Amino acid sequence: MSLSTSSANRKPVFVLVGGTGDLALRMLWPSLAMLDQDGFLDKDLRIISVAREAVDRPAFLERVSSAVQKRIGADLEATTLDQFLPRLSHIALDASDPQWGAKLKAELGEPDALEVVYFLSVSPSLFKPICEHLESAGLSKSPNRVIIEKPLGRDLASSKVINDSVAHAFDEARTFRIDHYLGKETVQNLLALRFANTVFEPLWNAQSIDHVQVSVSETVGTGDRLGYYDDYGALRDMVQNHLLQLVCLLAMEPPSNFNADALRDEKVKVLRSLKPITADNVRDVTARGQYGPGFAEGKQVAGYEAEKGSPSNTETYVAIKAEIANWRWAGTPFYLRTGKTLPSRTTEVVIQFRPVPHSIFGSAAQPNRLVIRLQPDEDIKLTVMNKAPGLSADGMQLQPLDLSLSLSNAFDGNGDKPPRRRIAYERLILDALNGNNAAFVRRDEVEAAWAWVDGISAAWAEAYPKPQIYPAGTNGPMSAYMLLDRDHRVWND
Ligand code: NAD
Repeated sequence: MSLSTSSANRKPVFVLVGGTGDLALRMLWPSLAMLDQDGFLDKDLRIISVAREAVDRPAFLERVSSAVQKRIGADLEATTLDQFLPRLSHIALDASDPQWGAKLKAELGEPDALEVVYFLSVSPSLFKPICEHLESAGLSKSPNRVIIEKPLGRDLASSKVINDSVAHAFDEARTFRIDHYLGKETVQNLLALRFANTVFEPLWNAQSIDHVQVSVSETVGTGDRLGYYDDYGALRDMVQNHLLQLVCLLAMEPPSNFNADALRDEKVKVLRSLKPITADNVRDVTARGQYGPGFAEGKQVAGYEAEKGSPSNTETYVAIKAEIANWRWAGTPFYLRTGKTLPSRTTEVVIQFRPVPHSIFGSAAQPNRLVIRLQPDEDIKLTVMNKAPGLSADGMQLQPLDLSLSLSNAFDGNGDKPPRRRIAYERLILDALNGNNAAFVRRDEVEAAWAWVDGISAAWAEAYPKPQIYPAGTNGPMSAYMLLDRDHRVWND
């Protein structure tokens, strides 16, 4: 959807609610500043920060400048902040203030002459009062739109409550739900790889692909998020959103065009095709873990329960054998895993092709494998079998070789310096400013993902209540290895 026609003569405003918070300082202000540096912000764009804290303008600008400098470092050009900071203002408003809407309106001036994008970088418990304030002050009308981010509930029922409260003020086309994975270069590139090439798509199905692995590993523990995390766990915190979004892009049918709804129609079909996991099979098709004492990132870790100070059944690791019950994917499992205090920080997709139907080279011919790395480096590798060079008394020898597409090297714009790796929020904020919601998650996607995840939570409660302890700094619980071992497969470690 493009809102540009209806809003041609309106002046753009970006309102960052929660502008003094951690997400804003680490990600959002640096993203906005870099969009400005690269010439993507309208010259008239005003940016208003709204938060509970009263901070005077000089102190606020100082906070934003140091946050941007810290995040961007040497890529920040000398004049960027001089251009960026004059756009900014900050107002202190508590969401519980009945005058919230009226006060923001006074700051905005003439709402009907404006096109406002609100980013609610606050706890979802504040979405309802804030949306009510915006609506009652007449600030939520089209073409204004809202950006919100996870956690969008902790199950289907609570996510509906959040979505309903936002939907009262903003219709679906003007609600931009962020999954920041969708702003990553390599994730976007999955669409190009699949739908702008002819070589992969004919093979992109159960006939040619043995299985798929999606792994997101973190080296950190829960840190100061423990209070939040204990109520969520890895399944709700990571699988419901980031991992399932990756599965959607990997498994979806080709959309008929690149329009937001065509894309999202195909993604939601994948989510609805996920085979439900029940108490009968949950111990066979999932692994639940929680980190215990050990060493991670070179430091001693006391273990999750010790950090919390009380017993907990919250999982910090999950592995799932997900099956997509449709013609394209029946018989090709998608193995998902994510966890904390693991040995490396990696996000990786592995497409494991089937072996050749009849090998004239015995077991030396290994199946092809496409590895798409999102983290730490952005890279795509296709492993192909080659003849090992030279002579051998034992006849022809084979070796696997990687065809590598290192994205930072491949797109080295003008010579020696690789392009700056963008913050995922840069693209997403730019898209929201332009009214393009293709890289945002639609309500039916969120709800279909929760419906599947709720089934796993319920099955765990009934048949798998306790996570298996794994030492911090190791690759997760034994049960995650058994999950693949049962299928005669191994994780790509
Ligand atoms: P934070 O606690 O650091 O900041 C919260 C912001 O909300 C502050 O600006 C604060 O002034 C404002 N605020 C709090 N209560 C308010 C009230 N009653 N009225 C008006 N303003 C109020 O939180 P954060 O880490 O920046 O996270 C913001 C949201 O983004 C949360 O929902 C969080 O779960 C989500 N999120 C955060 C991260 C992250 O990396 N920090 C990542 C993904 C999602």
